[in-house]
Amino acid sequence: MVCIGEKSVMGQLLQYQANLKGMTPAQILSWAVSEFGAEGLCMASSMGYEDQLLTHLSAELPRPIGVFFLDTGRHFPETYACLEESRHRYKVPYRVYAPAAQEVEEMVSTEGPNLFYRSLELRKRCCEVRKVKPLQRALAGKKAWVTGQRAEQSLTRLGLRAIEWDSAHNLYKLNPLFNWSEQQLLEEIKTREVLTHPLQGEGFPSIGCQPCTRAVQPGESTRAGRWWWEEEEHKECGLHLK
Ligand code: SF4
Repeated sequence: MVCIGEKSVMGQLLQYQANLKGMTPAQILSWAVSEFGAEGLCMASSMGYEDQLLTHLSAELPRPIGVFFLDTGRHFPETYACLEESRHRYKVPYRVYAPAAQEVEEMVSTEGPNLFYRSLELRKRCCEVRKVKPLQRALAGKKAWVTGQRAEQSLTRLGLRAIEWDSAHNLYKLNPLFNWSEQQLLEEIKTREVLTHPLQGEGFPSIGCQPCTRAVQPGESTRAGRWWWEEEEHKECGLHLK
C-alpha cells in the first residue's frame, strides 16, 4: 500500500523528472541549487572520473555544492593524493567522514583486516561499517545528494534516472551523468581539463578501496575491477540501494 506521504513524494518526483528532461549535467546542478539550496545539497566523491567532473562543474556555480569523501581507511595512496590536490584546486567545501573507530576495531579484531574476501556477508559488513554508516551522517539534514552514477556502468545501474527518490535515506538523489557514455565522459574531462585520479589512466576506470579494486582488462565493463570475486548483481557497497 502507498501512503499519502509517499504519493506526494512520487508526484513531486515525476514533476522533477519532467523538469530535468534534456538538461546537461551543468544545468542539472544549477537547477538543483535553485530548487534545494546549496546548503540542502551534498555531492559524494570517491575521486573517480565522474565525481571529479561533477566537482569541477560544481566549482563553476555561483554557490558551489559541498563535496563529501568517505574515508574508509582502505583507499589507495593515490586517492588521498587526489583529494589533497582537489582541495587546493577546487574552491568547493570539502567534508571527510570516517567510520566509528570502535566499530572498526571490533570488526577487525574478530574477523581480521581482509574479511571481505571470505563471504558476501562479511564484505557487506565491512562496507556497512566503513561506508554506509558514515554516509548516513553525511546525508543527515540534506534534501538531495548528487552522485556520479551512470547507467552503463553496471547491471545494477540500468534504468537510472536524472533524479530519483532515495527511500533508504529519505531524500532525492541526483545523477546528472545518468545517460552519459564513457566516451562522452572522457571527452568532457579532456575539454575542461578536469583534475583526475592518477590511477585512472592506468586501467582503473572505477576507483574504490584498494583491496577491493583491481585494474580491468580491455573489453571488460568499467566496474569489472570492483569486488571482482563476486557475481555482477552483488557489486554495490550499499550506498545506492534500490
Ligand atoms: S570496498 Fe572493501 S575495504 Fe572498502 S568498505 Fe567495502 S569491503 Fe571494506
